Amino acid sequence: MKIWIFAESENGAPTTATLEMVTKARELGGTLEAVYVGTDVASVATGLGEHGVTKVFGVDPDGVLAGVVGAAAIAGLIGAEAPDLILFAQTYDGRDAIGRLSARLDRTVLTNGMSLTVEGDSVRVGTAIFGGAQLVDTLFEGEKPYLAAIRPKSFVAAPGGAATPEIVAVGAVDAGRAGEAKILERHVEEREGPKLEEAVVVVSGGRGIGEAANYEPLVEQLANLLSGASGASRAIVDAGWVPYSKQVGQTGKTVKPKLYIALGISGATQHMVGMKGSDNIIAVNKDGEAPIFSVADLGIVGDLTKVVPALIEAIKARG
Ligand SMILES: Cc1cc2nc3c(=O)[nH]c(=O)nc-3n(C[C@H](O)[C@H](O)[C@H](O)COP(=O)(O)OP(=O)(O)OC[C@H]3O[C@@H](n4cnc5c(N)ncnc54)[C@H](O)[C@@H]3O)c2cc1C
Repeated sequence: MKIWIFAESENGAPTTATLEMVTKARELGGTLEAVYVGTDVASVATGLGEHGVTKVFGVDPDGVLAGVVGAAAIAGLIGAEAPDLILFAQTYDGRDAIGRLSARLDRTVLTNGMSLTVEGDSVRVGTAIFGGAQLVDTLFEGEKPYLAAIRPKSFVAAPGGAATPEIVAVGAVDAGRAGEAKILERHVEEREGPKLEEAVVVVSGGRGIGEAANYEPLVEQLANLLSGASGASRAIVDAGWVPYSKQVGQTGKTVKPKLYIALGISGATQHMVGMKGSDNIIAVNKDGEAPIFSVADLGIVGDLTKVVPALIEAIKARG
């Protein structure tokens, strides 16, 4: 089986989501190659090689969105290269690329993948449906390559199968009218502390925090004291209390920290699907019947406006 990864990068290195897919694909065996859209292909290829990628097709974005150029480049390459399966991270660029490629090739896609199984020639992608209440495995049929988008944090990234990848520069691609739109500016969201998806500790707040003004002194303070990141349920994102980038869950981010603290979050399946893989879960909720306690290792039944300040004081007192 020949597996391709649509690689993405951050600061000259492959993103964790990319390396998670590479690691999984390496475990499945066969040929492992990547397509990367960017001007820093040499440094990104090094990181990919450390995880087992043997060949990287480098595509010059020429000021155009990676998904636009990537889909056009892959569509042009697959005839000669014949990959069996192409994996994209369920990210902005990954979704852009897989959607465009699906339209170009008139090929079905499986998105939101959380597991991947290969048996001989057949490929299965596992996804969660009904807000995470049911898991289904879907088997690809029809013409290859199969196209799948995988949710970040579905696999664990680990180096292995070290290779010095061959870098193949892909010539100019015809991205059609979409290629006429150029990126003029990029804005990096300001953030203090670790990234939500990478943090070892995540403290999230839900509607139970009462009002927007409580997020900073309760949720963010506790997260900062624990050198963690602050997250949120969708309820308070929809209410406009915190930005969408903080949302944990089915339509937000998936996190797998060593410690997840849920403050005033009821534990809807759509929230839990994004955090139940955490190593340790602590929940504070005034309702002893709240579903969040079904996944909590430690549950505190109480008013968070009293529990959290006391916890913050206790942590501060320890220095
Ligand atoms: C298609 C779809 C996708 C969705 N995706 C997501 C997603 O990605 N992420 C997500 O989070 N949700 C998602 N949702 C929404 C989800 O169904 C819930 O509505 C949401 O998670 C509820 O947020 P919450 O727990 O903060 O609020 P609530 O359900 O209102 O819970 C608030 C909790 O706070 C407790 N509480 C209240 N006051 C206090 C207090 N003083 N002290 C302690 N506890 C207190 C209450 O007992 C209650 O359990 C999605 C829904 C749909 C339909």
